[in-house]
Amino acid sequence: MSFRATVLTLHPEMFPGHLGLSLAGRAVEAGTWSLEAVQIRDFATDRHRTVDDTPAGGGAGMVMRADILARAIDHVSPKGDPRPRILMSPRGKPLTQERVRELAAGPGAVILCGRFEGVDQRIIDARALEEISIGDFILSGGEPAALVLLDAVVRLLPGVMGNEVSGDEESFENGLLEHPHYTRPQEFEGRAIPEVLTSGNHAKIAAWRREQAERLTRARRPDLLAAKNQPLVK
Ligand code: SAH
Repeated sequence: MSFRATVLTLHPEMFPGHLGLSLAGRAVEAGTWSLEAVQIRDFATDRHRTVDDTPAGGGAGMVMRADILARAIDHVSPKGDPRPRILMSPRGKPLTQERVRELAAGPGAVILCGRFEGVDQRIIDARALEEISIGDFILSGGEPAALVLLDAVVRLLPGVMGNEVSGDEESFENGLLEHPHYTRPQEFEGRAIPEVLTSGNHAKIAAWRREQAERLTRARRPDLLAAKNQPLVK
């Protein structure tokens, strides 16, 4: 089964972007996933192809119209489409690796990218859009956020990442930030690779990595430890 992504956007030329390169790009060619970027303006009803209007109640900026967005959504995702309908939005639930994993296990996603001040609330309510944020900052449009979401999902699709094990140990996969990495040269500007890593003792290496991961997580992201109830090393 292949993961099918449809992105609704005013800038389809921003897709596939980097997702056309490297592992993600090869996975499209292999049929593991597909990406269709659809121009929202194609669903406008006037000859100027207008998609937005001034905010009710006044204020700066423009708001994307619910009726135009409904036509676009219903066209690409008719009733019965099992894919979740997502709106990229700074007011959304912060994206987590857990949600990324769920999405990767599903049939795909329909992703609406906002522009201007955002979208009319009624399209969110009427089409039960799942609002997802990629962080506490404001982008000028949902497109980079959609690329971020899809990047995180696609690398989890079967066969996309060469070395599956490297996925399991990564930051967040076990509720911890990942341990530090080292590679050659053995010495860099007077800094040596920690001895344990060159000891050949795999049990010791695993224990060291776990300890480092817990230390980093405790220092930088204690919220992750609290959330997962990870046992702490002393
Ligand atoms: N006025 C809005 C921001 C609009 S930014 C507010 O204050 O909440 C324009 C569009 O960029 C949004 O509709 C959304 O699609 C996208 N966007 C901006 N920041 C985002 C973020 N952190 N995560 C996901 N999408 C974001």
